[in-house]
Amino acid sequence: MSVIFTLEQHDPWLVFVAACVCALTSFAAVKLLAHAAETSAGKRPSWLTVAAMAIGLGVWSTHFIAMLAYSPGVDHGYDATLTFASLAASVAVTMLAFRVALSAPSAFNALLGGLLLGIGLAVTHYLGMAAFKVAGRIHWDDALVVASLLISAVFSTLGVSAALRANSMMAAATLFLMAAVGGLHFASMSAMSIAPDPTIAIPQNTIPQSAVAIAGAVLSILIMTFSLFGLLYENDRRRRAAEAERMRGLANAAVEGLLVCCKGVVTTANDSFLALVGMDLATIRGANLSAFFPAEAIREIEDAESKIPVETVLACKNGIRIRVELLCRMIDFGGDPHIAIAVRDIRWRREAENHIRFLAHHDVLTGLPNRSHCYDILDREIARSVHSNGRMAAMVIDLDHFKEVNDLFGHAEGDAMLKSFARVVSSVLGPSGTLARLGGDEFAAILPDIADRDAAVRVAQAIIDAIRAENQASQSRAVMSASIGVAVHPADGRDRESLLAHADMALYQTKAEKRGGYRLFDPVMAVRIHDRRAIEQDLRNAIDGDELHLVYQPQTDISTNQIVGFEALLRWTHPMRGNIPPADFIPIAEESRIMLRLDEWVLAAACREAAKWRNPLSISVNISAASLHNRHFPTILQNILSVSGLNPARLELEVTETTLIADFERALETMLSVKAMGVRIAMDDFGTGYSSLTYLRTFPFDRLKIDRTFIGSVTNCDQSATIVRAVLGLGRSLGLPVVAEGVETPEELRFLAGEHCDEAQGYLIGKPACIDAFLDIVDRAPKELEMAAA
Ligand code: C2E
Ligand code: CA
Ligand code: CA
Repeated sequence: MSVIFTLEQHDPWLVFVAACVCALTSFAAVKLLAHAAETSAGKRPSWLTVAAMAIGLGVWSTHFIAMLAYSPGVDHGYDATLTFASLAASVAVTMLAFRVALSAPSAFNALLGGLLLGIGLAVTHYLGMAAFKVAGRIHWDDALVVASLLISAVFSTLGVSAALRANSMMAAATLFLMAAVGGLHFASMSAMSIAPDPTIAIPQNTIPQSAVAIAGAVLSILIMTFSLFGLLYENDRRRRAAEAERMRGLANAAVEGLLVCCKGVVTTANDSFLALVGMDLATIRGANLSAFFPAEAIREIEDAESKIPVETVLACKNGIRIRVELLCRMIDFGGDPHIAIAVRDIRWRREAENHIRFLAHHDVLTGLPNRSHCYDILDREIARSVHSNGRMAAMVIDLDHFKEVNDLFGHAEGDAMLKSFARVVSSVLGPSGTLARLGGDEFAAILPDIADRDAAVRVAQAIIDAIRAENQASQSRAVMSASIGVAVHPADGRDRESLLAHADMALYQTKAEKRGGYRLFDPVMAVRIHDRRAIEQDLRNAIDGDELHLVYQPQTDISTNQIVGFEALLRWTHPMRGNIPPADFIPIAEESRIMLRLDEWVLAAACREAAKWRNPLSISVNISAASLHNRHFPTILQNILSVSGLNPARLELEVTETTLIADFERALETMLSVKAMGVRIAMDDFGTGYSSLTYLRTFPFDRLKIDRTFIGSVTNCDQSATIVRAVLGLGRSLGLPVVAEGVETPEELRFLAGEHCDEAQGYLIGKPACIDAFLDIVDRAPKELEMAAA
């Protein structure tokens, strides 16, 4: 009788355990195989070894537990050598199968590997069966043996292929492998029948089946558990690496440098940071933060909660240091707290800041230091001069007639002149000197370390010469000219204020005497200026103090020899100084707001006086620039006219060219309002200004007054005679009557009569005097006048 394989011979619990081990083994095989396939080439052999040992042992254990579940009903045991041979074969063939399957990612390799695994399973199983010793003869059914081999080969091939194909096929792969192991076992067991034979003795060196199975099961579960944990760990590591890579990818999109660190050690950085430091990731990974930032910056970085940008320097490749701004944040990086540092290159910002600083200290047009910067330099040079017991000089330079250049030739020409002035003077001063633009057409020059006062004078002269040379070389229509005032430290002033004030006084003196030159400060100037201040102060009281009065100078019609009007001229009798000529106090008044009040006073007084006359003669009043530019002037004039009751047609305002220049448009506006009231306007001192013709055409004048400098020399100077003739011709062509001023001799009057000049004014006709001197003329009725003339 032979014992054949039946289910009844199996312990169901142990079959269940075997099935569990088989399932676990299959699952582990699939997972480890897939993992090994994704692992880098370097790590793959170790993973393959682990996998082969775990799977080999698992397969082997499955076999022996299944055998344990089987009781053939006769004595049996296991040959130790063959048992271990089957274990060794299981591990070795699994290893070989996995290797082949993973040698290259191809379906063929997967199939071949799977086939080898199937063979491995069969070798393990049949070697295990060879170790099985029973008291009987074992008979094998060849067909079922072949079937078992086929099952093993087919399902292993399917399992390995599925495991390597896709993640979604893991479950199927596991089932295929379970089918391979289980199918092989049970088909093979079905192929076996045992004919008990008590004559066959179980060899002495067999090991008990239960010991083998339990040891195998424990061992394989342990190995598989470890390898699955390893797998979990590896997967976690991979997930972190992938996350880190993803973060780096994100960080690389940032324009700013990004550095991630943990406990003062660099974990990773983005490409911008690498580009900034000029290093690669491998070099900086694991580097200390101190390799990049100074200690105090690192302290602030570690206080990442502060959220205040840290400004510091970044040490780059080749010792290059870059100004950067750091912004730090605590972040969770791969599950651990890290500090992310945003590194912003602020070199460009520094440049911008430097540029802004430059703009704050320099004049945009000329690039010269501005007033505040000039003061700083001057303070510094004065301190140096004090320290070295030496001398230095300060100059104040004013462009002459700059306003006219702007008005006549346009602002572009004005700007060009300022620039070329800056260039010319800077080159005279050289690198040690400084030229600064204080504003408008006002400049200052600082000359450090001069030997004596003469040295300063030589530089001033050199500036004047250079400007002259520039004028000769230049194509510009506008002529550049400058007036200079010089003061030397310490003689002329010990501090910046007094030095500049005294240079200013010297400039003032230059302008008063001869523009286009220079003057060195002299204490007498201070006295003179002090006098001016005193006059200015006294003038304020003169109006209320009844110290002013008007004198009147007659104007005659040359052809009829009749007095046709008077010019009102201001006189000031100072309580201490006596009579002060208008030429002395009018310019002082013009520099302050007193002039407005003076003009108003003169206008009111002259109109009041003229309104009283029975003879309706014309009355001329001089008007300053201040009034012509005062928007309230027309209203003031209107008031004076209505209060005095003077017929506006009798009033004439005399304005000079310089009056018009200051503000062309405002002046024109005022003049048009004045004309609209019926008041006439005369151009005074014609011929002494800058561009008489332009003004004549632009402004609505009613009369021209030729300046007395031309009349005074008309009989002995051909040039003057020519000019007077030209002015008279001009007047005729523009339809403007001409008045000749300063007629002192009968020859002059004859000349003017011969040239058909309309009117004359001067000492020959009458000196300016109180109106009482002319009472017979002004109080005569027009009729009486006509009769007297007849
Ligand atoms: P101006 O408007 O050209 O006035 C004429 C000046 O020439 C007067 O000097 C007058 O005395 C002087 N003069 C007249 N005939 C002769 C002459 O035959 N020979 C010489 N050598 N001089 C003669 P004055 O009064 O000293 O005035 C000087 C300047 O002061 C005036 O020049 C005018 O610009 C200004 N001024 C005088 N009074 C006033 C005023 O009430 N208001 C304003 N804004 N300016 C005034
Ligand atoms: Ca006048
Ligand atoms: Ca005049």
